[in-house]
Amino acid sequence: SRGPVKWQRVLLKVSGEALAGDGEQNIDPKVTMAIAREVADVTRLGIEVAIVVGGGNIFRGASWAGSSGLDRSSADYIGMLATVMNAIYLQATMESIGIPTRVQTAFRMSEVAEPYIRRRAVRHLEKGRVVIFAAGTGNPFFTTDTAAALRCAEINAEVVLKATNVDGVYDEDPRVNPNARLLDSLTYQQVTSRDLSVMDMTAITLCQENNIPVVVFNLGKPGNIAKAIKGESVGTLIGG
Ligand code: UDP
Repeated sequence: SRGPVKWQRVLLKVSGEALAGDGEQNIDPKVTMAIAREVADVTRLGIEVAIVVGGGNIFRGASWAGSSGLDRSSADYIGMLATVMNAIYLQATMESIGIPTRVQTAFRMSEVAEPYIRRRAVRHLEKGRVVIFAAGTGNPFFTTDTAAALRCAEINAEVVLKATNVDGVYDEDPRVNPNARLLDSLTYQQVTSRDLSVMDMTAITLCQENNIPVVVFNLGKPGNIAKAIKGESVGTLIGG
Protein backbone atom coordinates (compact mmCIF):
# COMPACT_ATOMS: atom_id res chain seq x y z
CA SER A 1 0.00 0.00 0.00
CA ARG A 2 1.01 3.59 -0.61
CA GLY A 3 2.70 5.64 2.07
CA PRO A 4 1.89 9.31 2.67
CA VAL A 5 3.35 11.85 0.22
CA LYS A 6 3.88 15.44 1.19
CA TRP A 7 2.56 17.63 -1.60
CA GLN A 8 3.43 21.32 -1.59
CA ARG A 9 1.26 22.37 -4.52
CA VAL A 10 -1.63 20.38 -5.95
CA LEU A 11 -4.01 20.65 -8.87
CA LEU A 12 -7.48 19.53 -7.86
CA LYS A 13 -9.77 18.62 -10.75
CA VAL A 14 -13.45 18.76 -9.90
CA SER A 15 -15.78 17.45 -12.58
CA GLY A 16 -19.14 19.03 -13.22
CA GLU A 17 -20.80 15.74 -12.35
CA ALA A 18 -19.13 15.74 -8.95
CA LEU A 19 -20.43 19.29 -8.30
CA ALA A 20 -23.96 18.15 -9.04
CA GLY A 21 -23.82 15.57 -6.24
CA ASP A 22 -27.09 13.65 -6.05
CA GLY A 23 -29.29 16.74 -5.85
CA GLU A 24 -31.80 17.88 -8.43
CA GLN A 25 -29.98 21.05 -9.49
CA ASN A 26 -26.87 21.40 -11.62
CA ILE A 27 -24.88 22.34 -8.55
CA ASP A 28 -25.32 20.95 -5.05
CA PRO A 29 -24.45 23.62 -2.44
CA LYS A 30 -23.59 20.85 0.03
CA VAL A 31 -20.90 19.63 -2.35
CA THR A 32 -19.37 23.06 -3.00
CA MET A 33 -19.37 23.78 0.75
CA ALA A 34 -17.68 20.44 1.49
CA ILE A 35 -15.00 21.26 -1.08
CA ALA A 36 -14.53 24.74 0.40
CA ARG A 37 -14.22 23.41 3.97
CA GLU A 38 -11.72 20.69 3.10
CA VAL A 39 -9.65 22.99 0.91
CA ALA A 40 -9.65 25.54 3.75
CA ASP A 41 -8.23 22.91 6.13
CA VAL A 42 -5.30 22.10 3.87
CA THR A 43 -4.46 25.67 2.87
CA ARG A 44 -4.09 26.34 6.61
CA LEU A 45 -1.37 23.66 6.59
CA GLY A 46 0.43 25.68 3.91
CA ILE A 47 -0.39 23.42 0.95
CA GLU A 48 -1.04 25.42 -2.21
CA VAL A 49 -4.22 24.49 -4.03
CA ALA A 50 -5.20 25.22 -7.64
CA ILE A 51 -8.50 23.91 -8.99
CA VAL A 52 -9.71 23.13 -12.50
CA VAL A 53 -13.49 22.84 -12.73
CA GLY A 54 -15.40 20.88 -15.33
CA GLY A 55 -18.74 21.78 -16.84
CA GLY A 56 -20.41 18.49 -17.62
CA ASN A 57 -23.18 19.16 -15.09
CA ILE A 58 -24.36 21.98 -17.36
CA PHE A 59 -23.17 21.34 -20.90
CA ARG A 60 -20.96 18.85 -22.69
CA GLY A 61 -19.89 19.97 -26.14
CA ALA A 62 -19.29 16.60 -27.76
CA SER A 63 -22.62 15.05 -26.81
CA TRP A 64 -24.60 18.15 -27.84
CA ALA A 65 -22.81 18.38 -31.16
CA GLY A 66 -23.50 14.69 -31.72
CA SER A 67 -27.19 14.76 -30.91
CA SER A 68 -28.22 18.16 -32.25
CA GLY A 69 -26.03 18.71 -35.30
CA LEU A 70 -24.61 21.86 -33.69
CA ASP A 71 -21.05 22.41 -34.89
CA ARG A 72 -18.53 21.06 -32.42
CA SER A 73 -16.57 24.27 -31.84
CA SER A 74 -19.68 26.28 -30.95
CA ALA A 75 -20.84 23.49 -28.65
CA ASP A 76 -17.45 23.39 -26.97
CA TYR A 77 -17.44 27.15 -26.35
CA ILE A 78 -20.78 26.75 -24.60
CA GLY A 79 -19.20 23.94 -22.56
CA MET A 80 -16.27 26.15 -21.61
CA LEU A 81 -18.68 28.90 -20.53
CA ALA A 82 -20.41 26.31 -18.34
CA THR A 83 -17.16 25.76 -16.46
CA VAL A 84 -17.01 29.49 -15.74
CA MET A 85 -20.41 29.30 -14.06
CA ASN A 86 -19.17 26.47 -11.84
CA ALA A 87 -15.97 28.38 -11.08
CA ILE A 88 -17.82 31.49 -9.96
CA TYR A 89 -20.15 29.43 -7.79
CA LEU A 90 -17.22 27.67 -6.18
CA GLN A 91 -15.32 30.93 -5.67
CA ALA A 92 -18.32 32.55 -3.98
CA THR A 93 -18.67 29.52 -1.71
CA MET A 94 -14.98 29.56 -0.77
CA GLU A 95 -15.01 33.28 -0.06
CA SER A 96 -18.15 32.91 2.07
CA ILE A 97 -16.01 30.97 4.54
CA GLY A 98 -13.05 33.30 4.24
CA ILE A 99 -10.76 31.57 1.74
CA PRO A 100 -9.19 34.13 -0.59
CA THR A 101 -9.84 32.82 -4.10
CA ARG A 102 -9.15 34.02 -7.63
CA VAL A 103 -10.76 32.76 -10.81
CA GLN A 104 -8.67 32.86 -13.98
CA THR A 105 -10.30 32.16 -17.34
CA ALA A 106 -8.58 30.69 -20.38
CA PHE A 107 -10.22 33.35 -22.56
CA ARG A 108 -10.91 36.90 -21.51
CA MET A 109 -14.01 37.80 -19.53
CA SER A 110 -12.34 40.64 -17.65
CA GLU A 111 -15.47 41.94 -15.94
CA VAL A 112 -16.01 38.54 -14.38
CA ALA A 113 -12.59 37.09 -13.67
CA GLU A 114 -8.88 37.53 -14.29
CA PRO A 115 -7.45 36.24 -17.54
CA TYR A 116 -5.12 33.27 -17.15
CA ILE A 117 -1.60 34.55 -16.55
CA ARG A 118 0.73 31.82 -15.40
CA ARG A 119 3.05 33.95 -13.29
CA ARG A 120 0.15 35.69 -11.66
CA ALA A 121 -1.50 32.37 -10.84
CA VAL A 122 1.71 31.18 -9.19
CA ARG A 123 1.97 34.42 -7.21
CA HIS A 124 -1.60 33.97 -5.92
CA LEU A 125 -0.75 30.45 -4.80
CA GLU A 126 2.40 31.64 -3.03
CA LYS A 127 0.27 34.16 -1.15
CA GLY A 128 -2.01 31.37 0.02
CA ARG A 129 -4.88 32.12 -2.34
CA VAL A 130 -6.77 29.34 -4.04
CA VAL A 131 -6.76 29.74 -7.82
CA ILE A 132 -9.65 28.34 -9.84
CA PHE A 133 -8.90 27.84 -13.52
CA ALA A 134 -12.00 28.15 -15.69
CA ALA A 135 -12.87 27.76 -19.39
CA GLY A 136 -10.70 24.68 -19.72
CA THR A 137 -7.79 25.14 -22.10
CA GLY A 138 -9.68 27.82 -24.02
CA ASN A 139 -9.76 25.57 -27.08
CA PRO A 140 -12.57 23.46 -28.48
CA PHE A 141 -11.92 19.72 -28.91
CA PHE A 142 -10.22 19.53 -25.52
CA THR A 143 -11.49 18.60 -22.06
CA THR A 144 -11.08 19.98 -18.59
CA ASP A 145 -9.06 16.87 -17.71
CA THR A 146 -6.55 18.01 -20.31
CA ALA A 147 -6.77 21.53 -18.86
CA ALA A 148 -5.97 20.03 -15.44
CA ALA A 149 -2.90 18.22 -16.79
CA LEU A 150 -1.79 21.33 -18.70
CA ARG A 151 -2.21 23.79 -15.82
CA CYS A 152 -0.57 21.32 -13.45
CA ALA A 153 2.51 21.20 -15.67
CA GLU A 154 2.53 24.96 -16.21
CA ILE A 155 2.39 25.97 -12.55
CA ASN A 156 4.69 23.14 -11.43
CA ALA A 157 2.09 21.49 -9.27
CA GLU A 158 3.13 17.99 -8.19
CA VAL A 159 -0.03 16.00 -8.76
CA VAL A 160 -3.43 16.00 -10.41
CA LEU A 161 -6.09 15.00 -7.90
CA LYS A 162 -9.10 13.92 -9.88
CA ALA A 163 -12.25 14.14 -7.79
CA THR A 164 -15.05 11.98 -9.18
CA ASN A 165 -18.19 10.14 -8.12
CA VAL A 166 -16.45 6.76 -7.93
CA ASP A 167 -13.92 5.41 -5.43
CA GLY A 168 -11.13 5.15 -7.99
CA VAL A 169 -10.17 2.98 -10.94
CA TYR A 170 -11.54 -0.56 -11.16
CA ASP A 171 -10.22 -3.50 -13.14
CA GLU A 172 -13.66 -3.76 -14.77
CA ASP A 173 -16.73 -1.52 -14.98
CA PRO A 174 -18.30 -1.83 -11.48
CA ARG A 175 -21.74 -0.99 -12.90
CA VAL A 176 -21.48 -4.05 -15.14
CA ASN A 177 -19.57 -6.41 -12.87
CA PRO A 178 -20.33 -5.99 -9.13
CA ASN A 179 -17.18 -8.02 -8.33
CA ALA A 180 -14.92 -5.49 -10.05
CA ARG A 181 -11.84 -4.76 -7.93
CA LEU A 182 -10.74 -1.25 -6.93
CA LEU A 183 -7.10 -0.80 -7.92
CA ASP A 184 -4.68 0.80 -5.46
CA SER A 185 -2.23 1.92 -8.13
CA LEU A 186 -1.44 1.45 -11.80
CA THR A 187 0.86 2.78 -14.48
CA TYR A 188 0.04 5.23 -17.29
CA GLN A 189 0.76 2.36 -19.66
CA GLN A 190 -1.90 0.19 -18.02
CA VAL A 191 -4.43 3.01 -18.26
CA THR A 192 -3.86 3.58 -21.97
CA SER A 193 -3.40 -0.03 -23.07
CA ARG A 194 -6.40 -1.33 -21.14
CA ASP A 195 -8.46 1.69 -22.20
CA LEU A 196 -9.56 2.28 -18.60
CA SER A 197 -11.82 5.31 -18.69
CA VAL A 198 -9.86 7.41 -16.21
CA MET A 199 -9.16 10.45 -18.33
CA ASP A 200 -9.13 11.01 -22.07
CA MET A 201 -6.00 10.00 -23.95
CA THR A 202 -4.75 13.58 -24.42
CA ALA A 203 -4.92 14.24 -20.68
CA ILE A 204 -3.29 10.99 -19.58
CA THR A 205 -0.44 11.21 -22.07
CA LEU A 206 0.24 14.81 -21.08
CA CYS A 207 0.56 13.60 -17.48
CA GLN A 208 2.78 10.72 -18.54
CA GLU A 209 5.10 12.90 -20.63
CA ASN A 210 5.55 15.27 -17.71
CA ASN A 211 5.70 12.62 -14.97
CA ILE A 212 2.66 14.01 -13.24
CA PRO A 213 1.00 11.43 -10.98
CA VAL A 214 -2.80 11.33 -10.97
CA VAL A 215 -4.92 10.32 -7.99
CA VAL A 216 -8.52 9.36 -8.80
CA PHE A 217 -10.78 9.48 -5.76
CA ASN A 218 -14.39 9.86 -4.60
CA LEU A 219 -15.32 13.41 -3.71
CA GLY A 220 -18.57 12.23 -2.14
CA LYS A 221 -16.92 10.67 0.91
CA PRO A 222 -16.35 13.22 3.70
CA GLY A 223 -12.68 13.88 4.34
CA ASN A 224 -11.48 12.46 1.02
CA ILE A 225 -10.50 15.79 -0.54
CA ALA A 226 -8.36 16.72 2.45
CA LYS A 227 -6.89 13.20 2.48
CA ALA A 228 -6.00 13.36 -1.20
CA ILE A 229 -4.46 16.82 -0.86
CA LYS A 230 -2.47 15.75 2.20
CA GLY A 231 -1.11 12.85 0.19
CA GLU A 232 -2.81 10.16 2.28
CA SER A 233 -3.67 6.92 0.54
CA VAL A 234 -7.08 7.36 -1.08
CA GLY A 235 -8.54 6.11 -4.37
CA THR A 236 -6.20 5.02 -7.13
CA LEU A 237 -2.71 6.37 -7.83
CA ILE A 238 -1.57 6.47 -11.46
CA GLY A 239 2.09 7.01 -12.17
CA GLY A 240 5.35 5.42 -13.13
N1 UDP B 1 -14.30 22.19 -23.15
C1 UDP B 1 -13.56 22.56 -24.27
N2 UDP B 1 -12.21 22.76 -24.14
C2 UDP B 1 -11.55 22.58 -22.97
C3 UDP B 1 -12.30 22.17 -21.84
C4 UDP B 1 -13.66 21.99 -21.96
O1 UDP B 1 -14.11 22.72 -25.34
O2 UDP B 1 -10.33 22.80 -22.92
C5 UDP B 1 -15.78 22.07 -23.25
C6 UDP B 1 -16.24 20.74 -23.82
O3 UDP B 1 -17.38 20.97 -24.61
C7 UDP B 1 -16.63 19.97 -22.57
C8 UDP B 1 -17.21 21.05 -21.69
O4 UDP B 1 -16.37 22.18 -21.97
O5 UDP B 1 -17.59 18.98 -22.84
C9 UDP B 1 -17.20 20.75 -20.22
O6 UDP B 1 -15.95 20.23 -19.81
P1 UDP B 1 -15.74 18.69 -19.39
O7 UDP B 1 -16.64 17.83 -20.19
O8 UDP B 1 -14.28 18.43 -19.42
O9 UDP B 1 -16.26 18.74 -17.91
P2 UDP B 1 -16.38 17.57 -16.80
O10 UDP B 1 -16.55 16.25 -17.53
O11 UDP B 1 -15.12 17.59 -16.02
O12 UDP B 1 -17.55 17.96 -15.98
